[in-house]
Amino acid sequence: MLYSSKEKIEKSYDVIVVGAGLAGMTLANKMGKDGRSVLLLESHNKLGGFATWFKRPMQGSDGQHVFDVSLHGFPVGMIKTCRKYWNKDIADRIHQLKSVRYINPQFEVETDFTKEHFTKVLVEKFGVPEATVQGFFNELATMNFYDNSSMTNGELFEKYFPGRNDITRFLLEPIVYANGSNLEDPAISYGIVFSNFMSKGVYIFQGGTDVMINMMKDELLKNGVDIQMQAKVEKVLIENGKTAGVVVKGHTIKSKAVVSNSNLKTTVHKMVGDEHFSKEFVSKADKVRLNTSSCQVYMGLKPGESIPFIGDLIFTSDDKDFKTDLILSPKVGSQTFSVYYPETRPHLPPQYAIVSSSNARYEDWKNLSEEEYEKQKAYIIERALSGLEKILPGIRKKIDYVDAATPLTVERYTHHERGASFGTKFEGLEISMNIHKEIEGLFHAGSVGIIMSGWLGAANYGVIVAHDVDNYLSRLEKQTV
Ligand SMILES: Cc1cc2nc3c(=O)[nH]c(=O)nc-3n(C[C@H](O)[C@H](O)[C@H](O)COP(=O)(O)OP(=O)(O)OC[C@H]3O[C@@H](n4cnc5c(N)ncnc54)[C@H](O)[C@@H]3O)c2cc1C
Repeated sequence: MLYSSKEKIEKSYDVIVVGAGLAGMTLANKMGKDGRSVLLLESHNKLGGFATWFKRPMQGSDGQHVFDVSLHGFPVGMIKTCRKYWNKDIADRIHQLKSVRYINPQFEVETDFTKEHFTKVLVEKFGVPEATVQGFFNELATMNFYDNSSMTNGELFEKYFPGRNDITRFLLEPIVYANGSNLEDPAISYGIVFSNFMSKGVYIFQGGTDVMINMMKDELLKNGVDIQMQAKVEKVLIENGKTAGVVVKGHTIKSKAVVSNSNLKTTVHKMVGDEHFSKEFVSKADKVRLNTSSCQVYMGLKPGESIPFIGDLIFTSDDKDFKTDLILSPKVGSQTFSVYYPETRPHLPPQYAIVSSSNARYEDWKNLSEEEYEKQKAYIIERALSGLEKILPGIRKKIDYVDAATPLTVERYTHHERGASFGTKFEGLEISMNIHKEIEGLFHAGSVGIIMSGWLGAANYGVIVAHDVDNYLSRLEKQTV
């Protein structure tokens, strides 16, 4: 059932899930389907977490612009995950993007983002011997999460493409946009994300994020999951070293297990509290680095206006060469445009939206005065408009809505510390996976490291943790028999 935000929930549950991001929702759905009693609590007034959207009025019409925040692209694996853990209708709406483009001073490339086409570009455009390209792909394919390799992304690229900054840009730029990873991050994290994407291109959900999340909400309710929104969990209750439930607006709701889909560091230090963990665990959790944040500029076309097909995802840059540290700077010349054509939402009157994304550092925004903040926002809006003008001359006149989101916007809406767009860096995974060994019945599922982030990574991590929670509940049941 769907509780209203004012209701005090008196029922107790097998598991309470704190946060309705894709990991929390997928876990809740699987456990509900498997017959467990599940309560999903979300602090926002809608489900989805970062998988979200917002609406703004269209000038001179009753229509509304609908903007997707994180529907830029995900790997083909999402089809299987949705079919298996959600339903066929959701899976059937996932389709491949037709065209991914790069436009920068070093090269221009249009690709369907498949391994075959990448091989062709590396050989024919960048002049790399085919055997080297195969060697590179083979090394990526054999990378294993459990290998303890210390190789970094930078070392991996030097090994196969020494001194080729243009090739590093071609291979790494989309991944940097996707998750803020840089040349110093472990090559394994790059390898797995790259292999996922490269196999069969980039995919999105037809209908838009709003349609997908609403379909998921219906499926959750159908599978018996109770949901309450505008329900921010203040505390996870720990009694005798075990989880006993959560506190929402001062009211306790009891459960045998609690899964946090909130940011990992917030979960450990704030919702649970350091005093409940071993010193060693707290110190390890302290050292986990948060991922970087991002800025977006949302642009909507006036009703009746249109643009030709210019590609779905366009990586553009004015920067002469590629530096991953520069890509985080507020003055970076690169940005990615996601273009949403009327086919994105075929159920609505035709509408076009374009979103510019760039990586960002929280500290570059946090300490600005109000005036400086507005100025910085105006700067990124202008950068987006003038960047777009180069691809679509005259576009400014067609746009009737434009606004920007910054790391502070991300922080405000999702409670992710420092507006981290992809949770924590790689080392967060160990803390997340082992939290249940510290406190019985406490689990974490959500963006930790590159592999467990993004729409697919988060959903899949939800499934993995659902198994752990189920095993825990079965053990409890055996003990009480
Ligand atoms: C701008 C942007 C663009 C992106 N683009 C893509 C993309 O193109 N493709 C892709 O695959 N991924 C993309 N991502 C990443 C992807 O959206 C996320 O990795 C994924 O959605 C995260 O899911 P999650 O389960 O970790 O939880 P989150 O989405 O982080 O959700 C956590 C939820 O928990 C709730 N919560 C937190 N604390 C509490 C509390 N105390 N009580 C109750 N509720 C709480 C929050 O409100 C939130 O709803 C993007 C992210 C951003 C920010």
